[in-house]
Amino acid sequence: MPNVGQRPGKRVFIETYGCQMNLADSELMGGVLSTRGYTAAPNHDEADVILINTCAVRERAEERVFGRLSHLLRYKNERPEVILGVTGCMAERLREVITERAPYVDLVIGPDAYRRLPELLEQCQEVDADPVIDVKLDRAETYTGLTPERRPGISGWVTVQRGCDKFCTFCIVPFVRGRERGVSPEEILTQCRDMAARGYKEVTLLGQTVNSYKHEDTDFADLLEEVVKVEGIERVRFTSPYPTDFTPKLIATMAKHDKICNYLHLPLQSGSDRTLEEMKRLYTSGEFFKLVDDIRAAIPDIAMSTDIIVGFPGETEEDYEETVAALERIRFDFAYLFKYSERDGTYASRKLPDTLDEKTKGRRLASLIERQEAISAEIFQNRIGTTVRVMVEGESRRDAADLCGRSDDFKMTVFPKPEGRELMPGDFVNVRITDATSHTLLGEIVEG
Ligand code: SAH
Repeated sequence: MPNVGQRPGKRVFIETYGCQMNLADSELMGGVLSTRGYTAAPNHDEADVILINTCAVRERAEERVFGRLSHLLRYKNERPEVILGVTGCMAERLREVITERAPYVDLVIGPDAYRRLPELLEQCQEVDADPVIDVKLDRAETYTGLTPERRPGISGWVTVQRGCDKFCTFCIVPFVRGRERGVSPEEILTQCRDMAARGYKEVTLLGQTVNSYKHEDTDFADLLEEVVKVEGIERVRFTSPYPTDFTPKLIATMAKHDKICNYLHLPLQSGSDRTLEEMKRLYTSGEFFKLVDDIRAAIPDIAMSTDIIVGFPGETEEDYEETVAALERIRFDFAYLFKYSERDGTYASRKLPDTLDEKTKGRRLASLIERQEAISAEIFQNRIGTTVRVMVEGESRRDAADLCGRSDDFKMTVFPKPEGRELMPGDFVNVRITDATSHTLLGEIVEG
C-alpha cells in the first residue's frame, strides 16, 4: 500500500448495485455522512470517498463488482488519497475475498454497520491502515432516527423492514442481512411526511418479505392504513410481499384505498410443487393460484409481476414445464426470470447439488423469456384504447418532445408534451393509449 498521508476530503460518491433496498441503503449512508459534514460528489473524479454498495443474490452481481473494483484501481493509483469502500450484502459475505482480490480497498462494511460509517472512515485515514472491516450483524438495528439523504424527486423508498427470516434454500439474503425486524410505524410515518413536505408524491415501502412486517401490534395492513393518510403522498407501492403472508385483511386494505397502486410484485419462483418444497417456499402452486385469484377478485384491474428461478437443483423437464404452465395460467404483466446461481452457505448449496448443465439452464431460461415476452406483449397491446392515469416523471429518454411516467399499474407510458401547458414531474395526467410494445405504453393526453 502507498503511504497515503492525511485524507481530509469530505465529498462522497456512492455507486449502487442490486435491489431497491440497496438504493435506499445508499440514501441512508448519504444521510449518516451528511450529518458529519460530508457532501455528495457529482462523480468519481471529484470524490474523496467512493463507496460501492453491493448485491450478493447471484454470482454475476458479485463478479460485476469485482470487475468494477479492478477498474477503480486506476483511481487509487492516480489519487491514492481517495478512500474506496465496499458496502452491503457482498461485503458481508465476501469480506476476506474482497481484501484478497482487491487489497487496495480501504473499507468493507455490511448492511448493519452504516450508523458507524463516519467513525469507520476516520479509521481509514490512519496512515498505512489495514482495510477497516465491520460486518457485525445487529438484530436490533433499524436505523431509527437517521434521515436518508434523498435527492429532490417525486418518488422514493422507505425501508419498513430489515433482514429476512424465511430462509428459502437458494437464498443468501438471511445470511447477509440478518434477522427480520420491523421499523416502528412512527419512524416510517415521519419519513413519509418528510418526503411529502419535500414534494414527493409516491412512496414505495420496502422489505424482503414486506407483508410479514410486524412492529408490536401493527401489521402490514395497519401500516398501509396509516401511510395512505399522509397528506401529499398520492401513491403508495410496496415490494416484495411473500405469498403466504398475504392476508385477506391486506387484500381488503389494498382494495379500499385508491392511493395504494393496483400493482403487485409477487414472487412465485417455480410452478412445480416439488421444486417449491425443495426451495422451502411454504406454498404450493395451487395455493399461489388461489391467492392470485382472490387478489384479482377484490381488485379486478390489478397488474402483477413475479420472480422465477430456472434450473434449481434437480429441476426436471416436467418441473420446468409446470413453471411455463403457471406463467401461462397467471399471465403476469411482466416477470424477472433468473438462472439459478448457487450461493455458498445456503441449504441448497450444502444439500442439493447443482447438477443441471449450463446449456439446459440457458435453454430453459431463453424459452421462458420468449414465452413471457409474448404474454407481456399481449397484455400491453390489450391496453390500446384504454385511458390510464400517469404520474409525469420527466422527458422521455428517446425523444425530448415526449414525456414519460408510470401508470398506476406500473407501466412505463410515453406521450407527446402537450402544447400550451407545462407539465412538471409529479403532475398527474390521463393518457389514452394508442400503441404499445411489450414493455411500454404509448399514447396522448386527454382531459379529465
Ligand atoms: N425477499 C425477496 C428476494 C430478494 S432476491 C423477495 O422475495 O422478493 C430477488 C430475487 O432474486 C428472488 O425473488 C429470486 O427470484 C432471485 N434469487 C434469489 N436467490 C437466487 C439464486 N441463488 N439464484 C438465482 N436467483 C435468485
